[in-house]
Amino acid sequence: MLVVMQQDATEAQIRAVIDRLVDLGFTVHRSTGVLHTVLGGVGPVDDIDIAVFEAMAGVKECHRIVSPYKLASRFFRPQGTIVKVGNVEIGGPKLVVMAGPCSVESEEQIEEAARIVAEGGAQILRGGAFKPRTSPYSFQGMGEEGLKIMRAAADRHGLLMISEVMDASQLPLLLKYSDILQIGARNMQNFNLLREAGKVSKPVMIKRGIAATVEELLLAAEYVMSEGNYNVMLCERGIRTFETATRNTMDVSAIPVVKKLSHLPMIGDPSHGTGRRDMVLPMARAAVAAGADGLIVEVHPDPDRALSDGAQTLNPGQFAEMMAQVRAVAAAIGRAA
Ligand code: PEP
Ligand code: MN
Repeated sequence: MLVVMQQDATEAQIRAVIDRLVDLGFTVHRSTGVLHTVLGGVGPVDDIDIAVFEAMAGVKECHRIVSPYKLASRFFRPQGTIVKVGNVEIGGPKLVVMAGPCSVESEEQIEEAARIVAEGGAQILRGGAFKPRTSPYSFQGMGEEGLKIMRAAADRHGLLMISEVMDASQLPLLLKYSDILQIGARNMQNFNLLREAGKVSKPVMIKRGIAATVEELLLAAEYVMSEGNYNVMLCERGIRTFETATRNTMDVSAIPVVKKLSHLPMIGDPSHGTGRRDMVLPMARAAVAAGADGLIVEVHPDPDRALSDGAQTLNPGQFAEMMAQVRAVAAAIGRAA
């Protein structure tokens, strides 16, 4: 149930609607837009007569939301969500780029990567310290030491940072060092982790699972938001299909689909989306052209020696070229970069 309040609704009128929703068994989520306050009533009750709310003072309109996700639905915030992190706004007019190695490997590597990322004009340094690897024998990440050296490198170069949290027990560490928490494809339906991430105050980026539908991705966001953390963004990183020419099939159409169904910012990941360094640039352009609010890409000072995902990782020259080209695409669709 969504109740949109009139532009001039008083706080007392808003409170009266909230109290009524609570009496009927709803949990109320409040979104304050530029013009209207929207009250999202989430609960098991579906057969309430919406006329009851439409008749209340200060109410503009009332909708029963038929989609299984409510808070992630575009109705909840028709104007769109802007996730603010430091001085960066994700979901606003400016395209945001997150870039860096797949994994933090050493102080020298992450320092050099941060320099390349900042020089290219990206705003956020990416890098995993806890790595979800298909094989237990592959490099598993540097853990807290990796987070510590990544934070220092990001700070030296005026960058924000994003890093993956694989398990709820790692949340305190990630919260200590990282500006944005990444929930990876393999954990998109780790409902316990999603709920715990909903209780923290830092933004969360959820990557689409390799076999997840857009609706399941939006329900993952709903888990986080239902616990009170509305600073959520989503990421298309490719899904598994019958195609083997690329590591994954980057579902570019998921970008406009999510933007239509939801108010949450959408990020494109052409690195995992293709698995191939030579395909990253065209798919980065495609993601921006399709309306992505940002990109997350893998770049390494020496990708052939990367400890993970080297084949899909750009070298410094390719990264600079990608930044120049996505800026041109952004400008062509009336977006700043
Ligand atoms: C990553 O960003 O390096 C990563 C492991 O991504 P995904 O969860 O999309 O595989
Ligand atoms: Mn990777």
